[in-house]
Amino acid sequence: MTSGTRAIDPARFARDRSRVTGLLAVDQLPRLADLLFSREGVVSYSVEGDTSANGQPMLRIRLSGDLAVSCQRCLDCLPLHLDVQRELVLVAAAAGVDPLQDEDDDTDAIPSTDALDLHDLLEQEIVLSVPMAPRHPESACGIQAADEKSGDAGSPFSALARFKRPQN
Ligand SMILES: [Zn+2]
Repeated sequence: MTSGTRAIDPARFARDRSRVTGLLAVDQLPRLADLLFSREGVVSYSVEGDTSANGQPMLRIRLSGDLAVSCQRCLDCLPLHLDVQRELVLVAAAAGVDPLQDEDDDTDAIPSTDALDLHDLLEQEIVLSVPMAPRHPESACGIQAADEKSGDAGSPFSALARFKRPQN
């Protein structure tokens, strides 16, 4: 996909069982910028048209790639592997979204339009795939490790002991 927008007719795309694949450079995804530690990297995508079990047109989206986001605790680099599969059922814009469609986290309903901007849609799905507050696991996070090194004297247990002593 080039840097320009690429619109599809999603209902027709689904009916024809069309398929597109490609690569998105992370630095082409401005809505992701605030979350990123580094703007390097690419996300590969595939979008496939299909029909749901209920006969509704749908798009199957698959995203895979490696991002470098910022850990929200230590602000250092946090590698994040994306491997996302989503099913987007197209519903007539006037019909609203059937709440039943949202029972499954991997399935969503989107309003059907004549022209769906694929780049926009994929960018949105990537943003949704990144945790709200990504963090290293506690054992791997810079801040947590520093706390533990200096924290022996002030562990929760010794603090609790100090707190209890006067009551004895
Ligand atoms: Zn961290």
